[in-house]
Amino acid sequence: MADAGKKTLFEKIIDKELPAQFVYEDELCVVIKDINPAAPVHLLVIPRKRIEMLSDSKPEDQALLGHLMLVAGKVARDAGYGDAFRLVVNNGAAASQSVFHIHLHVIAGRPLSWPPG
Ligand code: 5GP
Repeated sequence: MADAGKKTLFEKIIDKELPAQFVYEDELCVVIKDINPAAPVHLLVIPRKRIEMLSDSKPEDQALLGHLMLVAGKVARDAGYGDAFRLVVNNGAAASQSVFHIHLHVIAGRPLSWPPG
């Protein structure tokens, strides 16, 4: 879990203290390329607001969470995969969450079978 007084990895990236490949930015979120892509397109949609995990989000985060979904669709379209992409949110360490600053994975560019691993 993140230490409340310490920046998360993604806050450091958002603040440009660590490098990343940005593909989109607005006042509420950024989108970067995943450093260890699971597919030809693997983007991370990250809110500027630090929410540790989806299950920590509050009713007041509703509009922000909706915005992240809309941005995910936009960047998938911009990458050429508007009609074939997967959105993933890992919630909790047991569900493979490793960075405790909520983010949506946008994955595309290869066949995506179901169920996921
Ligand atoms: P999680 O496992 O929390 O759902 O996803 C975290 C994602 O962040 C992983 O897919 C991982 O590859 C990615 N990641 C970890 N460190 C960095 C980094 O320094 N830069 C970028 N661009 N992605 C990272």
